[in-house]
Amino acid sequence: MKLTVTIVSAVLLSVNAFAWGPHSEIAQAALDAMGANDPLVQRLGPDAKRLAQYVWMADLRQSLLVRSDEVFYADDYLLFPAVTRHYQHICPEVEQTYSPYFRRALQAMRTESTHNASRWIGSLLHFTTDTGSPPHAAGFLGPAHSKMENWLDAKLIHIPGYQPQLLGADDASAEAGFLRRMVGLIEYSKERAQRCRADVDGDRRAPVESVVLESALETARVTADLLHTLGVLAAKATDDATLTGKVIVPKIEHATMSRLPAKVVLLGTSYSTLTEPDGTFTFRHLPVGEYRLVVIAPGRVSEAKPVSLAAAATVTLEPVDLSEGTDGNLVRNGTFTLRWASTEAFDHWSLRSLPGKLAASRPVRDWDGEWIPLQSGVTYHLIARWKATVADASGAQVFLRTKAKPDGGSITTDSAPVVQGTKEVAVTGSPEAAWAQVCIRASQAPDTVLKAVSLREAGAK
Ligand SMILES: [Zn+2]
Repeated sequence: MKLTVTIVSAVLLSVNAFAWGPHSEIAQAALDAMGANDPLVQRLGPDAKRLAQYVWMADLRQSLLVRSDEVFYADDYLLFPAVTRHYQHICPEVEQTYSPYFRRALQAMRTESTHNASRWIGSLLHFTTDTGSPPHAAGFLGPAHSKMENWLDAKLIHIPGYQPQLLGADDASAEAGFLRRMVGLIEYSKERAQRCRADVDGDRRAPVESVVLESALETARVTADLLHTLGVLAAKATDDATLTGKVIVPKIEHATMSRLPAKVVLLGTSYSTLTEPDGTFTFRHLPVGEYRLVVIAPGRVSEAKPVSLAAAATVTLEPVDLSEGTDGNLVRNGTFTLRWASTEAFDHWSLRSLPGKLAASRPVRDWDGEWIPLQSGVTYHLIARWKATVADASGAQVFLRTKAKPDGGSITTDSAPVVQGTKEVAVTGSPEAAWAQVCIRASQAPDTVLKAVSLREAGAK
C-alpha cells in the first residue's frame, strides 16, 4: 500500500497523491482466477507474476525503477507515438488511455520479449485498475478521495471460481469489448462512490469498506477478462518477419546506470523495446516493410539504420556499438536529436509549464530530464554546450535539480544555473542529493539554443 507514489514534482503530486491502494492485490486476484493454464500466463511464463508489481507503472512516471534484477525508466513503457504525454488517472481523462495502451500491450505480446511485454501490460493495467476505484470513476477529488479508495482490507480481494471472459475474437472487436467493459466498470464504481459518499464524509469507515470492496472485486474481474483476452489474441499474429540484433552500450562507472538497458526504436512506428541483460533485442511478427532503427543509451543516440524486412524473413543486424567515443554522460538524448515519441517534443525530456506568476511574467518553460541516481561522495559536472550561432539565448539556463528520495513528496533543490557564456556547475552526491534531474529553462525549444547537455562524473572522459 505504501508503494503509492514515486512521482517527481510537487506540481504533479496534487493529482497523483490519489492512489488506489490495492493495485497489486487486484492484479494478483485476476491472475489467481485465470490459473496456470490461461494463454496469457502460459505465454509470459515466470514474468506473469511480475504483473502484480508492474501494475504500478503509471504512478512511476519519469522515475527510474531500480530492483535487484532490473533497472529501467517507467516512461519507456508509458510514452510512445500514440501517447505523447502523461494522462491523469481519473475519469474522464483516464478514458483516453484505454485504446492506445490496449493496442500497445497487445503489440508487445506479439513482438517483444516477455520482460518487455509484461511491463507494457503493467501500464495498461494501471489505468484499468485505477478506473475501478470509486472516486476515480466518479471524478471525486479532495479529502474524500483518499479515504474512499483506501478504506478497504486488500486481503479480501479474491475472485475464486471466476471464469475470465473473452472480450472479442479479433483485435478490433476485443478493443471494442474492452471499452464497453470499462464503461460498465465506471458505472459500477461511480454508483458505489455516490452510495458511500455520505458515510465517507461522516467518517463512518465500516459501511464504506464493504462498498469499496465490491468495486475492487469487479475491477479484478475486468482485469482477468482483459488479461485473458490479450493472451488469446497474442497467439493470432499475422505478420511474420523477425528483426534481431545486439547493442554494446557505453561503459559507465556507475553502479545503477551501468545496468540500464539500451532502448531500440523503429522511427515513424510505435515499435520499441529495451535490450535484454546480454544486450540482445528481438522484434517478432513485424509487418513487411522498410524501417529505420535507432538505439538510445545514456549519452548516445545512434545514427538511424535502414532495415528492409521481407515476409517471413529473419534479419540479424550487425552489433550496434555505442561504446566508442563515450564520455560518461548519464543523460539520455542530451543532444535533443531523438524525436521518436513525438516530432514536436524530445524523447526523454518532459515539457512543464511553470506555475503561477513565473509563467505569467515570462513566456519561459521548463524541459525536465529524467531522474538520475547520484553516487554518494562522487562529484558530477553539469555541462552545457551552447550554440555559437545564437547571439542571444534570452536568459536560457540549465541547472540541476536534486532530491533525497525518488518519491514525489521529496523536497527538491535547484543548483546554480549554467547560463550562456558559462559552461558548467558541479554537484556532489549525498543523502540529500541522491537523485538529479537536468532542467532547461528557456523561452525557446532547447535545441535552438543548446548543442548538448551532459551530466558526468568528474574525471570521467
Ligand atoms: Zn494511478
